[in-house]
Amino acid sequence: MKSHLNLGAALIALVMAGSIAACENNPGGTATTSAQEKSAKIGAWGVDLDQRDLTVNPGDDFNAYVNGEWMKTTEIPADLSRYGMFDQLRLDAEGDVRAIVEELAAKEAAPGSLEQKVGDFYGSWMNVAALDEIGVAAAQPHLDAIYAIDSPEGLMKAYASQHGDAPFGVGIIPDPADTTRYVAIIGQSGLGMPDRDYYLKEDQRFADYRAAYKNYVAAVMELAGLEDAATRADTVIALETSLAEIHWSAQDSRNIQKIYNPMSPEALAALAPEFDWSLVFEEVGLGGVNTFVVLQPTEIDAAAELFAATPMDVLKDYLAFHFINEQAANLSTAFDDASFEFFGRTLQGTEEKRERWKRGIQQVNGGLGEAVGQIYLERHFPPSYKAEMEVLVGNLTAALEERLQLNEWMDDETREGALLKLSTFEAKIGYTEKWTDYGPLEIGADTLLENALAITEFQWQEQLDRLEGPVDRVIWPYPPQTVNASYNPLLNQITFPAGILQAPFFDPSADPAVNYGGIGAVIGHEIGHGFDDQGRRFDEAGRIRDWWTQTADERFKAKTDALGGQYETYEPVEGLFINGELTMGENIGDLGGLQMAYAAYHRHLDACCGGEAPVIDGLTGDQRFFLGWGQVWRAKAREDEIRRRLVTDPHSPPEYRVNGVVRNLDAWYDAFEITEDSALYLAPEERVRIW
Ligand SMILES: [Zn+2]
Repeated sequence: MKSHLNLGAALIALVMAGSIAACENNPGGTATTSAQEKSAKIGAWGVDLDQRDLTVNPGDDFNAYVNGEWMKTTEIPADLSRYGMFDQLRLDAEGDVRAIVEELAAKEAAPGSLEQKVGDFYGSWMNVAALDEIGVAAAQPHLDAIYAIDSPEGLMKAYASQHGDAPFGVGIIPDPADTTRYVAIIGQSGLGMPDRDYYLKEDQRFADYRAAYKNYVAAVMELAGLEDAATRADTVIALETSLAEIHWSAQDSRNIQKIYNPMSPEALAALAPEFDWSLVFEEVGLGGVNTFVVLQPTEIDAAAELFAATPMDVLKDYLAFHFINEQAANLSTAFDDASFEFFGRTLQGTEEKRERWKRGIQQVNGGLGEAVGQIYLERHFPPSYKAEMEVLVGNLTAALEERLQLNEWMDDETREGALLKLSTFEAKIGYTEKWTDYGPLEIGADTLLENALAITEFQWQEQLDRLEGPVDRVIWPYPPQTVNASYNPLLNQITFPAGILQAPFFDPSADPAVNYGGIGAVIGHEIGHGFDDQGRRFDEAGRIRDWWTQTADERFKAKTDALGGQYETYEPVEGLFINGELTMGENIGDLGGLQMAYAAYHRHLDACCGGEAPVIDGLTGDQRFFLGWGQVWRAKAREDEIRRRLVTDPHSPPEYRVNGVVRNLDAWYDAFEITEDSALYLAPEERVRIW
């Protein structure tokens, strides 16, 4: 259920937006002088001090100092691959949404109403007995259609389908050349495992993953009733391995200079003539479009050759496997279990499948999220939060503006460009002003697979409907109950949904120091994406335009090279280091975000309290600020999950988002009296300061 949408999401996630991943606390009122006056959600004033490990010198391992006791005493729940502050909030949001969904489902609902759609979709997900009863028969018409293909045209139409996966995907985004209109994009796709590295890395653990994958593909094919499943699995995996060899790496796929390749349909046909692109475009509804942005041209070229040279029987098996693989969760327990065993247990180290209802809520959030979002807002997002967030965003923006004015390494010309871009930033806070119209979406009571496919079609059609018109800056990338935050460089928008604007991320009753170290740094992080290694390639209107002088460009590059060099020395699991290039944007976001938040916190103190923060529980304002940041990233992950994220996730592991960042801030050294003999110590000239 993903090829089209996936690609758009992948582009937003990898290339452009920076989702955050965990934070906590809130904005400022006045500084608290007595911890007892307020009742913060966490601890007395926002940080749970009992979770610290005071035997650790903060300068040796700041993450362990802030979170060590929690790390020692917490076990990752059996059904999760990673657990921490961020996940706790997500679990709370799931519970909140469940209450809404179950209420809607219990209502007497008119056919076609939102209540009916939410209730029936969730009901069709929860009715496992019905899924097991029908078994593979639910997928059979789709598999039959694949095996009935008898021509290259039939194959092209199948590649264009949104229901499985194919060697390419399409999506729709604002045109980087003119962000007032949309453009279609085409990019690489088609691997069953998370990244090319899983097929190609020589490391023993990755060889183990490949062996398990072989069993999984064979098991799925056998469940689908295909004879000789093991042999067929081998040929499908051989094709995927050849595809992996030509796939671009994750870091190249987030490099905007490499992936921005506008082409006419004729140029695309010349690039990859083995594919009948006009048929594809007609099939997906993009006939008549005259410009496409091709993300990985050399891969598209080679993939077309590879697939054209592969026997039809192998291609049908490939398509059949990918259909089942994408839809496994929407089929019977046997398919769902096979999928969990490989993706959950083997690739992420998770011990148990999550409870059905929790996954059902995720499905509702993904497919009908805005249908429950309005009720979620009424219950969990006080209107005052929006105004408080606006103040915080204003303070963060003012802090960055001042830092740009005072910046010594930027020349005036580049500085002007940066200030201009900062002035056009737009913050979206809490929820959308324009709700999705689910009118055309049809949902039935007992057809989970067909419901899921209908949602995919509906979401693609929504995008298609926008293609001809001007870019819609009001719509949201996700529903308000989402626990995340993001930046979209094409719109120069930062987005903070209601889901993240609560404790532990945002707590109006907490100490301002903690709120600035939490949500303040998250806001700074998202603003920072506008000026990270990729975001800086976009101008004040979201266009790809080089507004940097050569001197500023070289100085920026020297700083980010130094930062990347630091991260590349970190080895979260044996033999696998952080990829400095893949994580560059997020690391810059973290570093710049914390620097901005620190400056904003002091602006707040200047405005409210003559620049002075009270001492609370023996801790200074600056110490509490850094504790807030450290607490946000309190998390543990299973080893396989760490490995998976090191290969695919542009974010560094949580521990390094703490230690890797604070060691570059002078204020942290002062706050905790860090000395040269500490493990995290960097000489002042080695500290990277960008903003
Ligand atoms: Zn980010």
